[in-house]
Amino acid sequence: MINVIFRNASYDYGALKTVVSDIIDGLGGDFIQKGVRVLIKPNLLLPAGPDKAILTHPMIVKAVAEYVLDKGGHVQISDSPAVGSFSKVLEEGTYEKVFEGIDVVFKEFKESVKVDIGDPFGRIDIAKDAMEADLVINIAKLKTHAQMLLTLGVKNLFGCIIGFNKPEWHFRAGVDREVFAKLLVQIYEAVKPSLTILDGILAMEGDGPGKSGTPRHTGVIAGSRNALALDLAVCSMLGIECTMLPTNRAAQRLGLIDQEIYISGDFQIINDFRFPELGDLTFGPRFLHGFTRKYLSQRPIVNKSICRLCGECRDYCPASAITLKKKKIIFDYDSCIRCYCCIEVCLHGALRANEARLGKMFRWIMDR
Ligand code: SF4
Ligand code: SF4
Repeated sequence: MINVIFRNASYDYGALKTVVSDIIDGLGGDFIQKGVRVLIKPNLLLPAGPDKAILTHPMIVKAVAEYVLDKGGHVQISDSPAVGSFSKVLEEGTYEKVFEGIDVVFKEFKESVKVDIGDPFGRIDIAKDAMEADLVINIAKLKTHAQMLLTLGVKNLFGCIIGFNKPEWHFRAGVDREVFAKLLVQIYEAVKPSLTILDGILAMEGDGPGKSGTPRHTGVIAGSRNALALDLAVCSMLGIECTMLPTNRAAQRLGLIDQEIYISGDFQIINDFRFPELGDLTFGPRFLHGFTRKYLSQRPIVNKSICRLCGECRDYCPASAITLKKKKIIFDYDSCIRCYCCIEVCLHGALRANEARLGKMFRWIMDR
């Protein structure tokens, strides 16, 4: 039996610290012992303040770090941001301030080691610090995700793939969401965190996971020794079928969800959470796939009045499908693999995934 504990909380540190300690104790906190070297992996995607709900809130990371320190462990906090320098993310995310005087090490993932994560991916580069720590504690943010529906416990560990290896893996996985989901699950299995905590107190709904998403207060924090179980339980909490999350489907196909899940604490279903629409890249009869992909499928679009022409999306796009010409962002939808990395890295929230009305109608007719 795998336990998943839900609690209601706020970011008020005194109360939050007790809630976090209760969750870890409830999961059998004895796995954190004196002298243990713990690597904490929060979501440090890009420079953003805590009110934007993009990063794991520093108060939760502090509460977990202090729990480990109280047990006599050593703490390193690491990630590999997609945009901006690590120090800028720590500064804007208020980590620097929150951790003043606390004996932890902040260190960006810089070095990788080859790890065999199994077929079909084989040996891939994963952050050395994550693989060599005695324990990994995964602290994810509850956010929507234009490509993968949600980013929860399993998806958070994709941050252990360093720098531009991330978009490269998007490119290798290509247009097939199921392949990418399998990659995420196999990375999770390789890193195998001892504990996953999910920060959903200020979650993100709508067009996440970057600045186009909308912060949404849910007041929920959850924890489990098993991120797959946690992700399944969170889908139930959000009122959706667990199989709607591609990583859950991948885990099921890999035979990794084989134990009963026991949910306890303040579990309450949220029925009005806003999800992004996940449109297929191709649909309808095979002979129309080229047409549907180019003209009808969901794709990234830009809001020209917000775009600052900074070029960040173009530089990050794994398919080289974005160009800046005559002060305009231009997408090559033939090359675009709909990974939505561009939406994730746009610091100005100028991009979103959109499916044309004609595409929606066509898909509706084809699905009948
Ligand atoms: S869409 Fe965003 S990332 Fe791309 S150029 Fe415009 S502001 Fe920069
Ligand atoms: S344009 Fe955006 S969605 Fe398309 S491949 Fe590039 S980063 Fe991915």
